[in-house]
Amino acid sequence: MSLDRLFGELRPEVARILDAALSGRELSVDDAELLLGTEGAELQALQRAADVARAEDKGDDVSFVVCRNINFTNICYVGCTFCGFSRHKDEEDAYDHPMEALLVKAKDAVARGATEVCIQGGIHPNKDHTHYREILEAIKGEFPDLHIHAFSPEEIDFGHKKSGMELSDYLRWLVDAGLGSMPGTAAEILDDELRRVLAPRKLDTARWVEIVKAAHGIGLRSTSTLMYGHLETQRHVANHLGLLRDIQQETGGFTEFVPLGFIHERNTLFNHMHARPGSSAPEDLRLIAVARLFLRPGIQNIQVSWVKLGRKLSQIALMSGANDFGGTLMEESISRESGSDHGENLPQEEMRRLIREIGRTPVERSTEYGILRRFDDPIDDPPSLEPKIEPQLSGPARQRLANKKVPAANS
Ligand code: SF4
Repeated sequence: MSLDRLFGELRPEVARILDAALSGRELSVDDAELLLGTEGAELQALQRAADVARAEDKGDDVSFVVCRNINFTNICYVGCTFCGFSRHKDEEDAYDHPMEALLVKAKDAVARGATEVCIQGGIHPNKDHTHYREILEAIKGEFPDLHIHAFSPEEIDFGHKKSGMELSDYLRWLVDAGLGSMPGTAAEILDDELRRVLAPRKLDTARWVEIVKAAHGIGLRSTSTLMYGHLETQRHVANHLGLLRDIQQETGGFTEFVPLGFIHERNTLFNHMHARPGSSAPEDLRLIAVARLFLRPGIQNIQVSWVKLGRKLSQIALMSGANDFGGTLMEESISRESGSDHGENLPQEEMRRLIREIGRTPVERSTEYGILRRFDDPIDDPPSLEPKIEPQLSGPARQRLANKKVPAANS
């Protein structure tokens, strides 16, 4: 069989676009839309092209950050239809953590080797701009070396409106208190018609762009995200990527792009508004691959969200254009509360193993992609800092476990 047959099924326009991307030419939004519809051999060619581009852009390293998520409250009045995380203040499992509890979580993060805490919460109607600053001051006061990656554009919008300051001044006020970078969440799909269905009371596209550009303008970098697998079309996704690329060409402030698959189990959008039940595996891989080819060279880091994809699909995504495994997280409730069952903590030992299994080199990075440590050889790996968790078993079950013989391998 000749090698030509491997990709002989490609339409000429798909072959032309992949060739253009690998030649370093900028793809159009129409090109991205067409690639987002590929299947079969065309999808495999797309994945291969993106993997080649990834190797050219970032080499064979796969980076990750040791971090802890901290959600300070799940009380929120915004009412996004896709959200399974938010609670009314009178609900039994509503919480609003006091500062001491946040410090305990930050202390635990540092003890487990974290360089970053990622702090986000619901929009609590009784809070104001000072609450965000108090969180920064408290954590930075105790842990001055910890990078604080915090507050989505929605939270910035809320705090800014309460502050009465100029937007840039408000952002500087937070940076002075310790804000290190900003999650580019609350983007969902940057299309106002769709946002009116997904999040009718959330900030609109123009305001999201205004806040992100203002942050980048004062040197505060952010991630960029997209939520897919619900009501969006391929055109919405392509337009969203085009907008992110335009912003990056203007500001250079995005550290990475993170596609976030919609988790459908526990929310109004799926249960009452006919959204799709999240993305398929081919859709996940297509988007990773298109992001690599479309966003290069401006956004070089394409991150997999292991919480959404799971470990094995994350490995395939890292072979389809992605170069970053994201964070260890340690605690994750936003996806879990919506129905994700991929866990909350991916210890760095396991991340390194998963990276090595695909023949790549694990690299611990800072939030802004400085290399902190390379792990070229597993023999040099440091011991785990993860606490040993004893199984919580009842007396008889503990006894049965103690009496159990160790089985032979593979039995
Ligand atoms: S997504 Fe955020 S802003 Fe929207 S309801 Fe949930 S917690 Fe509130």
